[in-house]
Amino acid sequence: MVNTSQPLGSNHDRAERAEELRRLLNRAAHAYYVLDSPEMEDSIYDQLYRELLDLELQDSSIVTTDSPTQRVGGRPAEGFSSVRHRIPLLSLDNAFNHDDLHSWYGRLLKVLDREPPTGSPLPALAMVGELKIDGNALALSYEDGLLVRATTRGDGEQGEEITANARTITSIPLRLHLKPAPAWVEVRGEAFIPDATFQAINNERQSREESLFANPRNACAGTLRQLDPMVVASRRLDFFAYTLHLPDDWQGSTPRNQWDALQWLGDAGFKVNPNAGLLPDLASVEHFFDQWDNERRQLNYATDGVVVKLNDFQLQDAAGFTQKAPRWAIALKYPAEEAPTKILRISCQVGRTGVITPVAEFEPVSLAGTSVSRATLHNADRLEELDLHDGDTIVVRKAGEIIPEVVRVLPELRPAISQRLKLPQICPECSSELVREQGEAATRCINSSCPAILRGALRHWVSKGALDVDGLGSKLIEQLVDRGLVQSIADLYRLDEALLGSLERMGSKSAENLIEALNASRSQGWAKQLYGLGIHHVGDVNAKAITTAFSDSDSLHQAACHEPDSITAIYGVGKEIAQSLQQWFSNPANQLLLNELHSLGFSLALNEDEQTRAIAAAANNHLDGSTFVLTGTLPTLTRSQAKEQIEAFGGKVSGSVSKKTTYLVAGEEAGSKLSKAQGLGIKILDEDALLNMLKEFP
Ligand code: NAD
Repeated sequence: MVNTSQPLGSNHDRAERAEELRRLLNRAAHAYYVLDSPEMEDSIYDQLYRELLDLELQDSSIVTTDSPTQRVGGRPAEGFSSVRHRIPLLSLDNAFNHDDLHSWYGRLLKVLDREPPTGSPLPALAMVGELKIDGNALALSYEDGLLVRATTRGDGEQGEEITANARTITSIPLRLHLKPAPAWVEVRGEAFIPDATFQAINNERQSREESLFANPRNACAGTLRQLDPMVVASRRLDFFAYTLHLPDDWQGSTPRNQWDALQWLGDAGFKVNPNAGLLPDLASVEHFFDQWDNERRQLNYATDGVVVKLNDFQLQDAAGFTQKAPRWAIALKYPAEEAPTKILRISCQVGRTGVITPVAEFEPVSLAGTSVSRATLHNADRLEELDLHDGDTIVVRKAGEIIPEVVRVLPELRPAISQRLKLPQICPECSSELVREQGEAATRCINSSCPAILRGALRHWVSKGALDVDGLGSKLIEQLVDRGLVQSIADLYRLDEALLGSLERMGSKSAENLIEALNASRSQGWAKQLYGLGIHHVGDVNAKAITTAFSDSDSLHQAACHEPDSITAIYGVGKEIAQSLQQWFSNPANQLLLNELHSLGFSLALNEDEQTRAIAAAANNHLDGSTFVLTGTLPTLTRSQAKEQIEAFGGKVSGSVSKKTTYLVAGEEAGSKLSKAQGLGIKILDEDALLNMLKEFP
């Protein structure tokens, strides 16, 4: 939910905010339901909607009849005749987490008069869990077994008649498989577009330079409203049936609960989603919800939650409806990866190369299940592009493994008086003036003794990919720098066990282990040492290539300062890196550091392992030109072992799947990368296939 920067204390504040939200949500709902072209993300709509609902709950006098909380969907679109539903086709109330689910269940027990005495366990009511298909509800009317009418939900009372279009959906039976058939029956379910078809439609639209559909649900709504059924047929919609209404006097088989209704629909010839579950109590509902959060990613159609319905129809009747939705069902939605919140301030992080990263600090929001209150703004250009003002409502995102970022600002919700937010002009760590060179996106602190830069350099030196020193975390580094005990990387190797043991949260055992880990790090290879020095643009892959070509620090120094062409001749190493190496080696302070490391026992040269690998790589680079992405847990290899092996044979390893990926190596519990790779048609390998490939000499 969006928290406003000041609590909305007075009635006037509340009414004003409610008015603002109504205006915004009604406009968004029109764009979404009528124009099939949403102007904001669903998760943002949901959260702004919740904020309005909360305000209305606090003060019912501000509820207006045009509030989006008082009605279902949008008005029927023009171009189709509008039909009144035999029984209103309502929406569903939403729950976003287990707490919301529990509150709904509590309300349900109350209305059914089944609340337990205080302290007693909640009575268990059987429920049916179904996937919430992200499509469009349709009501199908059959008379004497024949499909006579198909209607969209519309505003819940009246929908658009789209019978000709529904007839093109092959999973909707034109005649029921029932003998005898009831005089009438209304079947309800969800029309949807499978993911692959959605992609194909958008690709085609792109090639015709038409605007793209935002998601499968909008594409489906747009398709159902096509005036030409041939176009609808070509879009290959699908349909899952989930409920039905029969005449009271029907003597044939009549389901008495939701579970049987699904069976009935299957027998009548409908496609019923196979992933429903009969759930005896609330705990099994929670389990069902959690289970499908992962598994839904393997499906070939979009789902945005699960729908939980009370199983027994008699109990459903007793629970009844609110104006908008049944009380006996709830849509339990998966946590949003995007959410709106209020910006509080801009702060800065100083990286190990002095680069300043602006960070947006905002009121905490729950994103993909975790609370987030800071997100990167990348650089000053991005800050400018976003045009952030104080008091702004921003949209923040955290998708999968990605760190949170600010996606955009909602200028509609900007306070009347507000000032543009700018990057500070002085370093937050050492107060020296920040510099931005022409043509550079980055703003930097160029004070080489800035403690933030030193801390960053130390963190990088001890990190896994570099010297891999266990037991030297950020907090300890902070202490060492703040107390002036360490002023350079070399100083780490002069630390004394007794002194370390006297520091906060350090005992003599941890001090001893740390000294051991530091000593062991001296034998790390030359590639890791070069990478650990944190030279601008020299990543771990480049460091390997460079150290294979220049086997010690002296030869690299000589090449960097006097023969730059011999550096750019290395595959994958460009001018930028050559320049950066030249600058680094020309700096006397860095020369001093290398000399100190030498005298502290660092070889700064290829070790035996590296030499063997360099010879092997020169002979076997049959993976040259292939890019691999690793995901999940492999049975025997760790990620870094797999990476090392692939690189040893000339392959590249990248962190994210794109069209350029050649292979995805997937282990157990592979995540979104696997589905993305499958979507892009990328070849998937398991560990065995990878090992075979490594063995295959050309
Ligand atoms: P909803 O999508 O939250 O849930 C109700 C719908 O779920 C039903 O009408 C039905 O069509 C569908 N459904 C799918 N599987 C089902 C199943 N197994 N059983 C029963 N129903 C099932 O509610 P809504 O009223 O259709 O839409 C509201 C949502 O639409 C909002 O929460 C928001 O996410 C989105 N919306 C977005 C914008 C925007 O600007 N992005 C604007 C308006 C609405």
